[in-house]
Amino acid sequence: MTQVHQLFQLQKLDTEIDDKKKRLGDVLRAQKEPPALVAARQRAETAAAELQKWQAQHQNLTLEVGSVTTKAKNSESRLYSGKVTNTKELADLQQEIDSLGRRKAVLEDEVLEALVMVEDAQTEKTAADEALATAAAQWEKTSAHLKTEQNELALNLHKLMQTRQNKAAAIDAASLEEYDQLRKQKHGLAVVGLQVNMCLGCRTTVSANKVKEVDEGLKVYCGGCGRLLAAL
Ligand SMILES: [Zn+2]
Repeated sequence: MTQVHQLFQLQKLDTEIDDKKKRLGDVLRAQKEPPALVAARQRAETAAAELQKWQAQHQNLTLEVGSVTTKAKNSESRLYSGKVTNTKELADLQQEIDSLGRRKAVLEDEVLEALVMVEDAQTEKTAADEALATAAAQWEKTSAHLKTEQNELALNLHKLMQTRQNKAAAIDAASLEEYDQLRKQKHGLAVVGLQVNMCLGCRTTVSANKVKEVDEGLKVYCGGCGRLLAAL
């Protein structure tokens, strides 16, 4: 095998590796959650927080109603116990009971309002959870394909890079250096095939003399694109 042929094989491997790396990058980027799923999750989180907030509010108000009720009962017990005879104290107690009664009525209204909010929040949470589950299931399907492709690409790349390492080891350092430089300058393509007398890198027609030299395995560069030419 001539050195040009070896470099041509290396080029084919490198092209395949470049393509697979690019695809792997695309596949990794595509696995980012879509905006619709992110939005659905956000909605579900907000709904859960809202429900929790109103449940806590309802609970606090209920506790407060209980506390006001107990206070009023204690005051009533004292008022009707017969132990209090002082007119001023009796009047104060009655006033306190009235005040607690008004407070209780306000609180009970607030409890009912909170209960309505809890029900609304529960409805929204159920809807948001369902929407999230649907979006997540849909995404799971799509991303499963991507994950499979990602694993296959990674495995393939690993093998290709091992093969490349073995191929490169058989080529002398100076030629490899030249090849690497040329690849950098020519968008990753240093060695191209010659189809009859046409450069497959730039479609330029190559002279008969150069074609002959390529067939002999000599290092010949395309006059059009400057790439190394190899017989197909
Ligand atoms: Zn060319």
